[in-house]
Amino acid sequence: MHEETEKAGRPGLSKTEADWREELDPHQFHVLREKGTERAFSGKYWDLKDEGSYLCAACGETLFLSETKYDSGSGWPSFYQPAGSESVKEVADHSHGMIRTEVICGKCESHLGHVFPDGPPETGLRYCINSASLDFDGEAAKE
Ligand code: FE
Repeated sequence: MHEETEKAGRPGLSKTEADWREELDPHQFHVLREKGTERAFSGKYWDLKDEGSYLCAACGETLFLSETKYDSGSGWPSFYQPAGSESVKEVADHSHGMIRTEVICGKCESHLGHVFPDGPPETGLRYCINSASLDFDGEAAKE
């Protein structure tokens, strides 16, 4: 992993890949730090309809709110917009022979999923996010 030295010097990204490997479970590490994808319908949040906030499983930043979550039929948690304008960043992704837009955490830049232009009318966007990249906080809705 050559990323360790590259990321070490950047603001807000002080953790090394070794640090992340220690903090995250192996599946979360694979998705968040190695841009893995969980199997459809396998994650813990694709069908969750509770009110609350979805936080970055790596750094705790609020990424998405339950009111923008919808059933896309994809088997992954799907949202039509991020919680705030700086919650996530979008990066061109040409891997696996496809042209896609990767979605990463706006704070720690861990991999979250991809965004596609086939979402519902509100924005027309579908943020297709791995459950493994998220931590649901149901308490946030009650505050
Ligand atoms: Fe994060």
